Amino acid sequence: MGATSGVQFLPFKELELLFQQFIQAGYSIHAPQVVDGAILYSETESIDMLPRGVVDHQQPGHYRLTETGGSRYFSWSSALQGVKAALFPPSEVLWSAEQQAGGELDFTQVLAPQQAVALFGVRACDLAAIKLMDRHFLRSGAEDPWYQQRRANLLLITVSCSSASGSCFCASTATGPESESGFDLRLDELDTGFLIRSGSEQGEILQAQLGLKEAKPEQLAKADEQLHTVATQQQRAIATNDFRCHFTGQEESPVWQQIADRCLGCGNCTAVCPTCFCHREEEVPSLDLQGSLHQRVWDSCFSGEHSQLHGVPVRTGRRERYRQWMMHKLAGWHDQFGESGCVGCGRCITWCPTGVDLLEESARFVRDQLRDQS
Ligand code: SF4
Ligand code: SF4
Repeated sequence: MGATSGVQFLPFKELELLFQQFIQAGYSIHAPQVVDGAILYSETESIDMLPRGVVDHQQPGHYRLTETGGSRYFSWSSALQGVKAALFPPSEVLWSAEQQAGGELDFTQVLAPQQAVALFGVRACDLAAIKLMDRHFLRSGAEDPWYQQRRANLLLITVSCSSASGSCFCASTATGPESESGFDLRLDELDTGFLIRSGSEQGEILQAQLGLKEAKPEQLAKADEQLHTVATQQQRAIATNDFRCHFTGQEESPVWQQIADRCLGCGNCTAVCPTCFCHREEEVPSLDLQGSLHQRVWDSCFSGEHSQLHGVPVRTGRRERYRQWMMHKLAGWHDQFGESGCVGCGRCITWCPTGVDLLEESARFVRDQLRDQS
């Protein structure tokens, strides 16, 4: 579990105090909550809204929550969506245009709200996804001002996983279940409270204000054991973390059509993926046609419009669209960002209505290549 100095114990009864500290420091808190039978990150001011004693069951095309009555707040593995929307909302206005009396247009940039946000209960895979999104949205010289503003105002509080769902495979992508860096505060949950450590100056200040005692050696050992158990509990693994050589020359493989025969083109997989950042921009005119809002909205490899070039779709069917999604995520990202675009959260597998399984489908290309070579 890394260095132990500065690791303290936060009993459950002191958790509310931590929330109050966030509020006093000017943060609004976004934390996991049960909404319509699924766990989502949403604004709250109290720990009472956390999904305490709740366990999630995930399999390809299957998601259910059950209440166990247990004392833990984080017995579940991953929320329906990660924390992407806190930095890159599903829709946001970038600028507005207003026609003036003389007919000329007046353009105004609309920046993201200045509100500081404490994102509580972030999983390791989702923290890894934020690091990947940073690579895209904060590219030197091409920083996205909306993302940049939200990112600068974000306090990240991670909670290590203590259970794995049937879709999780972060151990094989080396993006979990433990967060090693990039957080302000990190919690590891035990039966009566949390181990807490800081990873930034702001986290250190907040932790010091809690006035907690150092964690005991047996508590540190328990948390270590828990992390080891979660990693070994994961029954799924990705065949390789770099598919570039396995996809080379496979553009016309019959596998793509076999997937397309089951794919509905619904885009669920891209909506829940914490690293999918594709979007389109559109105008929303005012009713009196004197102005318009220019907004950015999430888009998907699976929408026909997303592949249009000069009004003509270059990926005409689900075969081409799924191929684009998987090849980009598992291979193209390496050329673009130096690593895979998959952090092993398993959401695209859970939330695919027909159970299209990224791990199974991608492994076919590795198996086919090995077979061809033998
Ligand atoms: S591709 Fe699937 S498993 Fe990988 S990060 Fe996206 S949603 Fe998670
Ligand atoms: S693979 Fe599944 S989730 Fe993705 S678009 Fe096709 S049917 Fe929808």
